[in-house]
Amino acid sequence: MFKALVLEQEDKKTLATIRQMATSELPAGDVLIDVDYSSLNYKDGLAITGKGRIVRQFPMVPGVDLAGTVAESSDDRYHVGDKVVLTGWGVGEGHWGGMAEKARLNADWLVPLPANLDGKQAMMVGTAGLTAMLCVQAIVDANVKPEDGEILVTGASGGVGSVAITLLAQLGYKVAAVTGRAEANGPLLKQLGATTIIDRSVFEEPARPLDKQLWAGAIDTVGSKVLAKVLSQINYNGAVAICGLAGGFDLPTTVMPFILRNVRLQGIDSVMCPFEKRQQAWQRLTELLPASYFEQACREVALEQVAECAEAITNGQITGRVVIKL
Ligand code: NAP
Repeated sequence: MFKALVLEQEDKKTLATIRQMATSELPAGDVLIDVDYSSLNYKDGLAITGKGRIVRQFPMVPGVDLAGTVAESSDDRYHVGDKVVLTGWGVGEGHWGGMAEKARLNADWLVPLPANLDGKQAMMVGTAGLTAMLCVQAIVDANVKPEDGEILVTGASGGVGSVAITLLAQLGYKVAAVTGRAEANGPLLKQLGATTIIDRSVFEEPARPLDKQLWAGAIDTVGSKVLAKVLSQINYNGAVAICGLAGGFDLPTTVMPFILRNVRLQGIDSVMCPFEKRQQAWQRLTELLPASYFEQACREVALEQVAECAEAITNGQITGRVVIKL
């Protein structure tokens, strides 16, 4: 038997309870994993509270991320005792996920735990960190260089935002952090590497088609009017990597930044990211994240505290990353 957080639906409401389950109840897959840690992402928050249509069938064990140890494997690539990490692939949405002491998964979804990282650190990174790395890589690939100017990061206190700031600073970029919690989180964001802190309200005013050019590039986790304002202020030939919708999924902008300033907009998806790119991103994360990151912007909770944290993350009240010890 093992312990799991289970989501069920009653009268169209999502209920989250902790249950004892048998290994035989786990879905099909070629690798059985003893889960060491999971993590809480915005998407998990939406799934657990039922505020977003994330779960595709019930009952569901949430948790889009996990780090653990292989207990059984019928796949040649993985053997008993191997340490692995999983993010995305619809796990925790359509296939039982990481918020349980055991998980059975498809070997194609796994990545060997990178050397120099333990399971807890991997979950401090998690989907949010992997996505931040993919966003930063998009800025680098767009040939936006540190000497070109500041990079703006929105949703700065969140999981993606806080890792993105850390990675950009490590690569020598000057980072401006946009946050709705400037007073409470400004000092932490500066510790992570931001040089300028900007109140989110500045970016919530309606955007003109073109505003003063202020930023060499941006990583946006918020969408909607904030992203529209960001786009209007990007320098000629700048690049913006976007991954999120914490402020809404609409985008009230015009074609002007693209056709008059050659601004490039790169969408980022971590869920279906192919294995090779995923492995490279994990490797780069282990090279770039300083030891201080793991001390500054993370909190560890037990499965029993997850429902409360899920409510908080959907209300924009969590700072940095939350890891769950199984
Ligand atoms: P998170 O930890 O909840 O961070 C989101 C941050 O956005 C919050 O900390 C807050 O930062 C800001 N925010 C919250 N509500 C807002 C609002 N109404 N308007 C404007 N800003 C708001 O979430 P996360 O895990 O970093 O994820 C961020 C976004 O990226 C989410 O939309 C998530 O679904 C998406 N995501 C996408 C992928 C992908 O593969 N494309 C992967 C991971 C995450 P401040 O308080 O500092 O303003």
